[in-house]
Amino acid sequence: MIADAMSMIRARDPHEREFHQAVGEVLDSVKPVLDRSPRYRQAKILDRITEPERVIIFRVPWMDDQGNVHINRGYRVQMNSAIGPYKGGLRFHPSVNLGILKFLAFEQVFKNALTTLPMGGGKGGSDFDPKGKSDNEVMRFCQSFMLELFRHVGPDTDVPAGDIGVGAREIGFLFGMYKKLRNEFTGVLTGKNLGWGGSLIRPQATGYGCVYFAAEMLATQGKSLEGKVCLVSGSGNVAQHTVEKLLDLGGKVVTLSDSSGTIYDESGIDRSKLAFVKELKNVRRGRIKEYADKYPSTVYTPADPAAEFNPLWNHKADCAFPSATQNEINGKDAENLVNNGVILVCEGANMPTAPEGIAVYLQHGILYGPSKAANAGGVSVSGLEMTQNSMRINWTSEEVDSRLYTIMKTIHKSCLDASAQYGTAGNYLNGANIAGFVKVVEAMLDQGLV
Ligand code: NAP
Repeated sequence: MIADAMSMIRARDPHEREFHQAVGEVLDSVKPVLDRSPRYRQAKILDRITEPERVIIFRVPWMDDQGNVHINRGYRVQMNSAIGPYKGGLRFHPSVNLGILKFLAFEQVFKNALTTLPMGGGKGGSDFDPKGKSDNEVMRFCQSFMLELFRHVGPDTDVPAGDIGVGAREIGFLFGMYKKLRNEFTGVLTGKNLGWGGSLIRPQATGYGCVYFAAEMLATQGKSLEGKVCLVSGSGNVAQHTVEKLLDLGGKVVTLSDSSGTIYDESGIDRSKLAFVKELKNVRRGRIKEYADKYPSTVYTPADPAAEFNPLWNHKADCAFPSATQNEINGKDAENLVNNGVILVCEGANMPTAPEGIAVYLQHGILYGPSKAANAGGVSVSGLEMTQNSMRINWTSEEVDSRLYTIMKTIHKSCLDASAQYGTAGNYLNGANIAGFVKVVEAMLDQGLV
């Protein structure tokens, strides 16, 4: 049944490589569930769950500061609404295509199911690159993007958020245009600024949640993050807040990166260096190389797309937190991690490890927190932002952080419980896939053939 479903997906959309990868990983994990549930097979549940409920593709015309016209492509993949309105981020990056957004939307369905909150799964974005654009250009692009998207989203239908290239600035421009078009002030987007409907801790949530998840995994072996040397990739939202929480819990972070290169700071990225990175990335929108200019004992290595491995994953360390993008750890990188003493990999980015890399983790029995569980903190606090918007109240940071912590502990436990129930105790990958899958499938079956 799984082989049939995979062949059908590959034949139907042969170019969607990342989507095939994400589906393949989930289907591998849920095989024992399907073996025990003939009902799922009869209902053709695999064919149904891998086909988006709706895909919207649209033209996004905009004008740059010199008066030149540009056309980008906009997307929203509404994957599954069995347990709540579609929910998932918008990504603005030149690499964006339908296959990548379908993989992200598919992952989001199971991730959102794990959070315990009532959210379906979706994802969207554009091949627009905000890097090097002026604020006015970004605003015109966001307004044009929302001029079409507004027809398809709403607080009870689909609630997008940020992702790569979409931060508070972009969410503000998108929200402003939605409000003007609909003439209503509702919680249609999450990741809003605090003064107009945002939630405290939302910017921090993915990174903090990922570190909470790592701490839970270590605790199963009587260990903690205190004194652990950590590798973090990326230098955006997830990476910055992962570093911040690791510092809170006594970890030492020695790496960061962006798409141009990586830095290795053996003395550790302390709070004042982190403040520099935040200002560099969030305000000046500069490159991570400037970190090495500012702190000369740091080693900077430019990115080399032809290299067999990424030097960032080849340093002595205890823990790794990939927080940049998909497939940033290949099989060789995973071997380097293990050979350098890494005992835990906790994924802040979505699907950052290629299948060969995951095989290496499992073979060496290291603690492996897969993205759909480990980075679910972001969408969880987005769910809490929706709750606060509906109730028209704001919780304190302590309240939101404590709810986030409880959710991450619950997700950790659900993964462990499901992995044990299906005979692979301690395999968080299987646990996350099975727990998310069963919840969504049961809801789909309850709601009939729609
Ligand atoms: P972000 O703030 O835009 O930062 C992304 C970082 O990754 C930047 O440092 C970027 O470098 C780097 N990067 C992006 N594409 C890359 C590539 N192809 N090669 C090397 N580096 C690359 O985005 P983010 O929100 O931190 O998201 C990072 C990851 O976490 C993504 O996988 C995202 O889907 C996932 N995630 C995010 C959230 C959230 O709440 N934000 C929640 C769950 C999962 P450049 O600036 O040079 O591009």
